[in-house]
Amino acid sequence: MKNVLYDLLERNQNNAVFFDMDGVIAVYEHEAYKWGPFGAKPLFAMQEMHYFLNVDRDERAYHMLKICCSAGVPTYLLSKADPSLPWVREDKLLWAKHFVPEIPEDHIIIADSDKAETIMVKHQISELKPNMILIDDFNANLQDWRSAGGTAVKYLNGLNSKDSWNGYWVDRLQIPVPGTLYA
Ligand SMILES: [Mg+2]
Repeated sequence: MKNVLYDLLERNQNNAVFFDMDGVIAVYEHEAYKWGPFGAKPLFAMQEMHYFLNVDRDERAYHMLKICCSAGVPTYLLSKADPSLPWVREDKLLWAKHFVPEIPEDHIIIADSDKAETIMVKHQISELKPNMILIDDFNANLQDWRSAGGTAVKYLNGLNSKDSWNGYWVDRLQIPVPGTLYA
């Protein structure tokens, strides 16, 4: 089945792929970000809940990531964590190491702020290269990445829409899940 990411990887040389976590490799749950009654914090912001330790993996996005890894493409996880919630960073790292063991620890990047900026600083470059591909579900991240020179692919996770984005996209339903009959 057609998949823009695989097409891009075939067309370009020396690619690197950066997978977002929340809403891509990790299932996004809208409920977890809603404020509760009587001003109760959203689930994700309650330290005692360690929300990010227990999120479900998106098996389709994970399958796509494994294909990148087995093709020998340098593959990264790139997620943001609010620095005012310091345990989130640690929880995301632990989750990634457990649920995405294909990714070496130095390829798990938890950014404090802008993703494109974080990668440019880390790689000591002033602009991203077109063969640096971000897979993300959030338009603002995709736009920043593309403005910085990278290639951005929107992941349609069933909650967001391609209508708000004029660029590459992959629908999760285009990715077959191994072991299922109707993929
Ligand atoms: Mg996301």
